[in-house]
Amino acid sequence: MKLLEFEAKEIFKKSGIPVGIGFVITNPDEIDDRINYMGGEVVLKAQVDVGGRGKAGGVIITDVKSARENAALLFSREIKGIPVEKILVEEKLPIENEYYVSITLDRAKKEPVILFSATGGVDIEQTARENPDALQRVWIAPVLHDIPPFMMRRLLNGVPKELGPVINSLYRVYCESDALLAEINPLVTTPKGVYAADAKLIVDDNALYRQGIEVNRDLTDRERRAEKFGFSYVELDGSIGVIGNGAGLTMSTLDLISHYGGKAANFLDVGGGAGEDRVCNAVKLVSEMPGVDVIIVNLLGGITRCDEVARGIVKAGISQKVAVRLAGTNEAEGREILKKQGYMMLDTMDDVVKYAVSEASL
Ligand code: GDP
Ligand code: MN
Repeated sequence: MKLLEFEAKEIFKKSGIPVGIGFVITNPDEIDDRINYMGGEVVLKAQVDVGGRGKAGGVIITDVKSARENAALLFSREIKGIPVEKILVEEKLPIENEYYVSITLDRAKKEPVILFSATGGVDIEQTARENPDALQRVWIAPVLHDIPPFMMRRLLNGVPKELGPVINSLYRVYCESDALLAEINPLVTTPKGVYAADAKLIVDDNALYRQGIEVNRDLTDRERRAEKFGFSYVELDGSIGVIGNGAGLTMSTLDLISHYGGKAANFLDVGGGAGEDRVCNAVKLVSEMPGVDVIIVNLLGGITRCDEVARGIVKAGISQKVAVRLAGTNEAEGREILKKQGYMMLDTMDDVVKYAVSEASL
């Protein structure tokens, strides 16, 4: 789950990474006396979890007198389509130089990799593309609590060594927060020391409980309910809902939809041995997503019994069309139940997919 900048900065601060003084507001009237301790100018930063906020109009530098007015302006904006609900009001740091540092998991090497660049700021992707040599990388065994000095030297390679302790603290934050990404862009030098001017932290979804995070904000309400039911469920942007059992069958259904020119709205894997209620919940969940025109239920009856599946589909009683393909245990009974209720049961995967694509809007 992605943390917002101010949440990441709170964690950074506890770990000894200097951040500017600031506070969070949810409307312009919450700007109070605290702003007078920030010097003549402040930075207003929209707390939205998109990259490149600065370029998209999400960061305003203003003098204290006009802060309220500019905060109102920022609240009225959408940053890359996301409304601004919170703003971090922060002292404006007197920046001398901007650097980039991030720590992420290199899945191929099975180790965290630390990236550092002396040209930080907003255009790191461009730097990585056009001048890859400007990006230093070191891999570190996650059993180490600190970045060894020789690695730090290789990483920093001539830039001010005061950056070292901050990068080391970031590495500790990365480990202790069960993070998939910890990033400071820009990491800045100022006359009063090194600061994290921005902060990004993504916590591994599997570690949310350990991190004391109860609700995964990155999931939609449906995705959260699916998690509770124990379904594997993913939302896409097409118009066909997909229910399968087993990852292989579900994935091949998706491939076939794409082959016939359709687009899946979502897919749900009910898992093995799904009974009537489980199927009913699955069908309802998939159908509730806005934009789903038609639903494919493609299930193989092994332990799963086709008659139970059929009853589940009927029980869900949804308004969209359902194209069903069932094969295996109690197939004939399943077909009978569906037919009686006016549902369409086709014989092959090819047939259900072709039918669904023809019914769905593109
Ligand atoms: P992002 O665009 O979402 O990465 O937002 P950042 O928080 O990184 O801000 C974008 C840019 O605004 C930074 O690269 C800085 O150049 C500038 N900026 C942000 N905070 C400060 C600050 O405190 N002082 C100054 N002078 N510039 C800042
Ligand atoms: Mn940034």
